[in-house]
Amino acid sequence: SKAQGCNTCHFFTKEMNMGVTRRLALEEQLHGALGNSELEVLYQPLVDIHSRSIIGAEALLRWHNPTLGEISPDEFIPVAEQTGLIIPIGEYVLAQALEKTAQWVHQRQWPFKIAVNLSPRQFRDERLVTFIEQQLQANSVPGSHLELEITEGVLMGDHGYINSALETLCRMDIGIAMDDFGTGYSSLSYLRSYPFDTLKIDRSFINDINVDPADRELVNAAIAMAHGLGLKVVAEGVETEEQLESLATQYCDVAQGYLFSKPVPPEEISRMLIKGRF
Ligand code: C2E
Ligand code: CA
Ligand code: CA
Ligand code: CA
Repeated sequence: SKAQGCNTCHFFTKEMNMGVTRRLALEEQLHGALGNSELEVLYQPLVDIHSRSIIGAEALLRWHNPTLGEISPDEFIPVAEQTGLIIPIGEYVLAQALEKTAQWVHQRQWPFKIAVNLSPRQFRDERLVTFIEQQLQANSVPGSHLELEITEGVLMGDHGYINSALETLCRMDIGIAMDDFGTGYSSLSYLRSYPFDTLKIDRSFINDINVDPADRELVNAAIAMAHGLGLKVVAEGVETEEQLESLATQYCDVAQGYLFSKPVPPEEISRMLIKGRF
């Protein structure tokens, strides 16, 4: 009926307005987030599957805003990306992460890697390499302790530029990880075209690894393929011993997930490193 159509229309418009309002509020608040110290970098341990020792951590950003509350990076990173705020925010994450890594590398006698996420706009920023170089130097951290995690989105576009940027990072001994493997359409062709060191299998595949035979086969195949290409494999979102066991039987190298720890403040990582293993 006509009334129904009207209601639907009204409802839809209201939803859309809420979306726009929310988006504007996020954007407005995000401008002040860095200056107001609302951003925090948490770290989630990366665990060697066979020895259960901590071999690194991924830096994960958190935003606590007095008006909007706790906002998930899945919601605010795209806003930061669209507004360009990701450049100063990303530099903040790198600077924080490398400062902590200097401590952790010093504390620990064997390799420790910090993994930092890079969004497309950051990767296209021509000051990125210089900034990373400065931060590594300022903290006396060799490039070999840093791994940049990039998704397919980062690799779309000018092959020439991407290739030379990756080569420069490679020469600095910085690792490159393909993040969210399995969720995009072109991961395989990118794996062939660029010099990755690590493949991170997306959490959505690990989730049902012991329930869904298709997911298990895909994960097994991804691990075998990555190893065939000489890449290290990290499984994201490992929550149970059963999942870890399945990954271990396939010789997956590294696990990250709530089974070991959720993302935590840096002091927690320091404490974990004293013990060294899970
Ligand atoms: P991601 O890079 O795929 O990071 C892994 C996400 O999985 C993180 O969500 C982490 O907290 C979550 N996770 C880890 N283990 C488990 C588990 O066992 N179970 C469950 N349910 N979740 C787990 P988070 O921290 O909310 O980050 C979401 C996304 O936001 C990240 O996905 C990444 O794409 C982006 N992000 C976070 N920090 C940064 C940053 O500093 N820069 C950029 N460019 N992106 C970031
Ligand atoms: Ca990541
Ligand atoms: Ca993921
Ligand atoms: Ca490499």
